[in-house]
Amino acid sequence: MRRKSQTGRSVADGINFRLLVMITGMRILVVEDERKTADYLHKGLSETGFVVDAAQRGDDGLHLALTESYDLIVLDVMLPGCDGWSILAALRAAGRPTPVLFLTARDTVTDRVKGLEMGADDYLVKPFAFSELLARVRSILRRGPGRQPEVLQLADLDLDLPRHRAARAGQRIDLTPKEFALLALLAKRHGEVLSRTLIAEQVWEMNFDSDTNVVDVAIRRLRAKVDDPFPRKLLHTVRGVGYVLEER
Ligand code: CA
Repeated sequence: MRRKSQTGRSVADGINFRLLVMITGMRILVVEDERKTADYLHKGLSETGFVVDAAQRGDDGLHLALTESYDLIVLDVMLPGCDGWSILAALRAAGRPTPVLFLTARDTVTDRVKGLEMGADDYLVKPFAFSELLARVRSILRRGPGRQPEVLQLADLDLDLPRHRAARAGQRIDLTPKEFALLALLAKRHGEVLSRTLIAEQVWEMNFDSDTNVVDVAIRRLRAKVDDPFPRKLLHTVRGVGYVLEER
């Protein structure tokens, strides 16, 4: 049972049963010195079913990361005691492949590249929606230690993520950046019904309760390009719930 917050909406809302089963009992270490963010993460991840340990200092986080066993570490960059970069470097130097999701207040290409080159599995720029964090966590856990595939395939649909290219049956499809982001989100989580709210949060960075009609409009445009010209339909509407990309 998920508890509801005062707003009537649990932090962990929007995740499905399959995900709950998958993550139950998995251990996450959160290293974050900002009290509010740390509490929010702790609450949301615990509600979702993870076993969560938390550290507020970098040196304490590193100690835990080296002595305990975690499925994932959520790591802030700027920390007292020892920064996130040093923690990641020390972990990898010790041969620990534990996946790391960086939280960064800075959204600069240099920081991103630095983190990824050092062996972080993903990064998230603050402030972020919990659903976004959960999507990243889930994606990292699903692929395990190592890199995410750069080309996603579903039936005859190919999505080349780094090149922002989409094709069906080898035929290139021209998409706007938002359409590509929308399709990529659906493809990464294919088989899973995504709510309009979740899509709006992740593709448009809009908050809950904003006008999610924008999602329906974008889906219609995407469908016209990706599905209409082809006999096999991949993008489906689940009435009253949302959208799913899958082979039927
Ligand atoms: Ca910090």
